[in-house]
Amino acid sequence: MPFRSLGLDAAILKAVQETGYTEPTPIQSAAIPFILQRRDLIGIAQTGTGKTAAFTLPILSVLAASPSKGVRALVVAPTRELVVQIEENVRAYAKHLSLTVATIFGGVSERPQIKALEQGADIVIATPGRLLDLIRGREKAFANIEFLVLDEADRMLDMGFVPAIRQIVKLLPRKRQTLFFSATLSREIEKLTGEFLTEPETVEIGRRSNPADTVSQSVYEIPQHLKPGLLLHLLQHDKLNMVLVFTRTKHGADRIARRLEQAGIATGTIHSNRSQNQRLRALNEFREGKIRVLVATDIAARGIDVDGISHVVNYDFPPHHEDYVHRIGRTGRAKAVGEAISFVSREDEDAVRALERFTRRGIPRHKAEGFDYTAPAPPRDKGGDRRPPRRPGEVRAPRPAARRDFSQERSAEGSHSHSGNKSYGSAGGGEQRTRSRGRSDGKPRSISMSGEAGKSAGGPAKKGGIGRFLGFGRRK
Ligand code: AMP
Repeated sequence: MPFRSLGLDAAILKAVQETGYTEPTPIQSAAIPFILQRRDLIGIAQTGTGKTAAFTLPILSVLAASPSKGVRALVVAPTRELVVQIEENVRAYAKHLSLTVATIFGGVSERPQIKALEQGADIVIATPGRLLDLIRGREKAFANIEFLVLDEADRMLDMGFVPAIRQIVKLLPRKRQTLFFSATLSREIEKLTGEFLTEPETVEIGRRSNPADTVSQSVYEIPQHLKPGLLLHLLQHDKLNMVLVFTRTKHGADRIARRLEQAGIATGTIHSNRSQNQRLRALNEFREGKIRVLVATDIAARGIDVDGISHVVNYDFPPHHEDYVHRIGRTGRAKAVGEAISFVSREDEDAVRALERFTRRGIPRHKAEGFDYTAPAPPRDKGGDRRPPRRPGEVRAPRPAARRDFSQERSAEGSHSHSGNKSYGSAGGGEQRTRSRGRSDGKPRSISMSGEAGKSAGGPAKKGGIGRFLGFGRRK
C-alpha cells in the first residue's frame, strides 16, 4: 500500500517522500486511517516499527487543515531523549507546513518552555514531570487540545509516572482524541487505556511484547569477571561496527567506556549523570560514526533512534523482559537486520529462562572462539563489577541483585519526583519494585582482562543451561 492511499495531506506526503520512505510500515498502514477518522487508538507495537510516524503523520495532517489556535497536540513520552527524538521526527515531517513545535523536559531552563506554551505552539512534546510543573496554572494554554498522545506507556508505568499523567489528563479538555502506544499490553496497561481512552480501536503489530523479528539473538555464557575481556574480544570483529552496550548502572557504563577507550575503541556514554548536552553530543557522534560504541543505561537509552546500529550488547542482562525487548529493538530498526548479544552470568540464569518462556523461543548459546574462558577471577576487592571498599561508618543499602536502581535512573527524566513503586503484571508476577541506592565513587578500578586477538566470535549455537555450560554447579 503506498503512502498516498492513506489520505494524508500532500505537504506531508512530500516530506515523507524526501525522508526516503517508500511504503508505510504495518503499524502506519493500520493506525493512520483510524487516526484520520478521529478515533481513539491503542497501538501495540515494538520499538523500531515506525510508530512515531504512525501517530505524527495523521496528527500533522489534521492540524494542517485548520488554523493555529494554541496548543492542539500534546505528546507525552517517558524520557527527554525520546522527546527530542519525536521532535526531530515532527520537524522532518512538518517541514512543508507552518506549524510550531515545542519541547518540555526537566534538566534545562523552564523559561523558554513557558514562553512556547504561552505563545501556543501547535504541538508540544513533553516528559510528564516537567509538564505537570508547567501545566498547573496554565490550563488555558491547553484548552484547545485536539490530540493527546501517550507514547511508550508501558515505560511510563514502569517509571512511576502514572500519577503525574492522571493529574495532567485531568487538566485537559475531555473532548479530545487520545492515542496510546505501548510495546506491551499487560493488565495494568489495559486498565490505563480504560481510564484515558473512549471506545478505542486497537492495532497490534506482531505478537505481544516479542522481540523484533529482524534481530538475531544470542547468549554468551560468561562469568562476571570475564565480561570486559569478552567485550573487547568480540569488538575485534569489524562487523560490530556500531555497537550499543547496555549496563545496569551508570558507574558500570563509565567503567566499560574507560576500558574500551584505553583499548583504543572510540566510545561514548549516555546515562543520567551526563548532562543533556553531553548525551545529545554522544548520540550525534554515535550517529555520525565518530564513536563506534555507545554505552548506555536502560532509561537514558529510551528513544535512541539511530539507524544502522549493528549490534546491541546486553553487558548486564536485564532482569525484566520488557527491558530486553526495548534494548534489542534499538537494532534491526524498520526493516534492517541487527544482532543482539547477551552476556549471561550465573545470576542471570532465571531471567534468561523467564524470557525464553515468555517469548516461547530459545535463544542460541554461543561460545567465543579463541577466547580464554579459564582466566581466574581477580581478588575480591579488585576488578570486576564491584562496589568500592566500605568507608568507616558507611551504611549501605543492600545491593540489588536482579533489580535496576530506579532511584538513580529516574533522575534521567528531570527534576520532578514521583512515587515510584509499581507492581508488575507479566514481568514480575505482581512483585513490588523496590528502590535501593547503591554507592560508588566512580573511581577507576582495575579490571582483569583476558582473551586472544583476531579469532572469530561466532561459535556454534549450543543448547543447554548456563549452569551446565560454565560448570557453575547445581541449579536451584
Ligand atoms: P520508530 O518505531 O518510530 O522508533 O521508528 C523506527 C525507525 O523506522 C526510525 O528510524 C524511522 O526513521 C524509520 N521509519 C519510520 N517509518 C518508516 C517507513 N515507512 N519506512 C522505512 N523506515 C521508516
